[in-house]
Amino acid sequence: MTAPLLSVRDLTIRFRTDEGLITAVDRVSFDIAQGEVLGLVGESGSGKSVTAKALMRLNGSNTVYDPQSRIILNLPGQAPVDVLALRREKDMMQVRGGAISMIFQEPMASFAPAITVGDQMVEQLRLHRRMTRREAQALSIEMLARVGIPEPARRFGQYAFEFSGGMRQRAMIAMALSTQPRLLIADEPTTALDVTIQAQVIDLMTDLVAEFGMAILFITHDLGVIAQTADRVAVMYLGRQVETGAVRQVIRTPAHPYTSGLIAALPQLDDIDAPLVPVPGDIPSPLNRPSGCVFHTRCGLALPDLCAARDPGFVAPAEGHAVACHLVEAKLREGSPA
Ligand code: SF4
Repeated sequence: MTAPLLSVRDLTIRFRTDEGLITAVDRVSFDIAQGEVLGLVGESGSGKSVTAKALMRLNGSNTVYDPQSRIILNLPGQAPVDVLALRREKDMMQVRGGAISMIFQEPMASFAPAITVGDQMVEQLRLHRRMTRREAQALSIEMLARVGIPEPARRFGQYAFEFSGGMRQRAMIAMALSTQPRLLIADEPTTALDVTIQAQVIDLMTDLVAEFGMAILFITHDLGVIAQTADRVAVMYLGRQVETGAVRQVIRTPAHPYTSGLIAALPQLDDIDAPLVPVPGDIPSPLNRPSGCVFHTRCGLALPDLCAARDPGFVAPAEGHAVACHLVEAKLREGSPA
């Protein structure tokens, strides 16, 4: 069996703060196969971005990775690499911007304001693909054209602030894809864009990724976007992974009460009078993580005594579908549908 491109196992991330150690990500595990799109979904504070940044070790200096955590990168023809075990910055640079690239919600985060977009693209290509300046310049202009930026040769010489928001997003995608990463991490890449540009950017990303054969980790709070883009989805809540499965499976037959809540909160275009049903309450502070199931303080189906006392393990309502919930476990034991 081919090893997945990326295997994350028992990823636990804590931050040192003035109030003590806080847990941002708790025993998260997932695989991403070559060419696969995995969606990571959850509200703000669920640990999605912290998880994604860990793949490139971009979290701050107050980060503590649990010694059990593993992030294994299996690149074709190379020995597996545990990203968290890399000690030399030189080795880390092969991963960061080489094997894995990331695009952010706010593209200005990717561009230095005082260097032209073109020079930044060229610098990255020379570092990761060892091209001459002339080759890197030609490829950069080609990539800007590929993402639909008009007059790419002129735009190549401009600064990011001279681009419109949608165009900056496209330029960031061009820069991220130009090094031909094996994995693209897209962290809320369309949240700041209006709906038509959002659709164009999603189409563009999925087309280019299919063409280059790379995998994507797509992070969003919007299950609607995931339904359009991902093959599989992992739902996170307060640093815990609560449900994972094929996108259709999870969206059509959600098993975890939190996933069902996220789906019920989506606007229904075929019934515009239907009220939106938000997940009740707010996500608790990581400083006050609930005991037992972390969702029990907001769950309308919580089982008395059990849910606040015991952390649920994963059960499988169907092949490839994993859910961490005592209620689902009880239903499966009784033989009723989850
Ligand atoms: Fe709700 Fe209990 Fe399931 Fe948690 S384990 S989601 S509290 S039913």
